[in-house]
Amino acid sequence: MASVSVSSHFNKSVRQHYMSLPQGGKCQVTYIWIDGTGQGLRNKTRTLDTEPKTLADIPEWNFDGSSTYQSEGSNSDMYLIPVRMFRDPFTLDPNKLVLCEVLKYNRLPAETNHRMSCNKVMEQVKEHQIWFGIEQEYVLLGVDGHPFGWPQSGFPAPQGPYYCGVGADKAIGRDIVECHYKACLYAGIEIFGTNAEVMPTQWEFQVGPCEGIEMADQLWVARFLLDRVCEDFGVVVTLDPKPMKGNWNGSGAHTNVSTKQMREEGGLHYIEKAIERLAQRHMEHIMVYDARGGQDNIRRLTGKHETANINEFTSAVANRGASVRIPRQVGQEKKGYFEDRRPAANCDPYLVTRAIASTCLLDEEQQIKET
Ligand code: ADP
Ligand code: MN
Ligand code: MN
Ligand code: MN
Repeated sequence: MASVSVSSHFNKSVRQHYMSLPQGGKCQVTYIWIDGTGQGLRNKTRTLDTEPKTLADIPEWNFDGSSTYQSEGSNSDMYLIPVRMFRDPFTLDPNKLVLCEVLKYNRLPAETNHRMSCNKVMEQVKEHQIWFGIEQEYVLLGVDGHPFGWPQSGFPAPQGPYYCGVGADKAIGRDIVECHYKACLYAGIEIFGTNAEVMPTQWEFQVGPCEGIEMADQLWVARFLLDRVCEDFGVVVTLDPKPMKGNWNGSGAHTNVSTKQMREEGGLHYIEKAIERLAQRHMEHIMVYDARGGQDNIRRLTGKHETANINEFTSAVANRGASVRIPRQVGQEKKGYFEDRRPAANCDPYLVTRAIASTCLLDEEQQIKET
């Protein structure tokens, strides 16, 4: 059996006593931010005298960037700027979670803060009312790094029965999926749904549709909730795009996209125009579709396991082996959305949604150059 963490063995009914104590009108606010790896999330909590009603009621804060791979030289204090507030599903109302942007000592965005540039593009394309929906795939691991529920030596039965499967030998870790789903709903995440994936112990949740900058904000907090739920159960999430070598599916972050024009009658025309533009900038997009400038996605985008080869751009209706897929129903109704299947599970959704909005909707001279 994969090993679960020591603290997951604590007596949780003892914990319940403390969690149910009244908190004297005070409010706990947990600040969440992306660390210097561009993938890891950090958080710390403070007390406010009253419940914040809006973001404006939550003060800026700071942290020690030298402990999060984020400091520059001797200026290790970094600013936390609240950008989106959620209900806290762990300590419950009136407590809050607040996603923050990280600024350096000079109040410029930290290296891994791509929200500001993403937001700039989203403001530029506002009239298009661009919606995104991201499918976040992930794999559960024990604290020893071994896939949760996989035999200690050897492998589980081959892929086939696990996708959307039910039963103790097929759906491994469903407790986590169900608790995460409820936590998302409580918090106010626009969670769209969830399903078991193709590889055993691989799962997916979807967030969206969300307009503009809200997509990436929501996905980052949904990821935080997943990490936090897994912590309670003593297991770990990996967003590695190809955690198991060989005949096992990788993990993606399929990004579904539509504009107002695409959603209206005859919108397929605009979907096709957007796909033509994406085809022109395939490699630039690949560079921002994983956490390591395209290097991680090389292991995943092989042309097998429902992926297209990383070196070529393809698009088709109802084809899960294409870079970009037009869902069958969208092909039939001639309106709706398209799915970019290239982003890896460990992508930064600020970079992915920024690249798509920029390439598909901005004039050539305004477009972001991904380097
Ligand atoms: P798949 O068939 O690829 O597995 P899913 O059902 O897992 O698709 O996910 C569908 C995603 O598409 C969801 O994230 C949802 O929010 C998103 N979506 C649905 N309609 C739209 C739309 N009009 N624009 C953008 N995204 C959309
Ligand atoms: Mn899906
Ligand atoms: Mn999937
Ligand atoms: Mn998909």
